[in-house]
Amino acid sequence: MNLDALTEIVENQDNYLEGQANDLGLKVGSVRAATLIVDDEGYDALKGKQVWVFDNAVRPLIEDVPCDGYRGPFGEDDIECNNLVDDDDLVESYQSDSFLCGYCQGAKNNDDYDRDRLMNE
Ligand SMILES: [Zn+2]
Repeated sequence: MNLDALTEIVENQDNYLEGQANDLGLKVGSVRAATLIVDDEGYDALKGKQVWVFDNAVRPLIEDVPCDGYRGPFGEDDIECNNLVDDDDLVESYQSDSFLCGYCQGAKNNDDYDRDRLMNE
């Protein structure tokens, strides 16, 4: 569980909490409440149904987050990637709205580099 990513979500990425609440048919207020409790006081401070809400709505956002898969410079490659986003990169992933594992990020960086070089020729 990545608490730095949790803080990033609390401060800047409320839309992810709304998305999870909608997907699960929960009130966004209860998802926010459970998130704030863990951010302020820690997981052990959750009580009753809040534990379920947090584990199902919030935990998947900050633990074992799957790679979206890099689809090539034009988004044309249909690649399924089964890796997880590196925990150290998770905060940045939320900030850039790009969830890639180290392997896919490397492929993207290479393509970005090639594209920039071609554009500058
Ligand atoms: Zn990947």
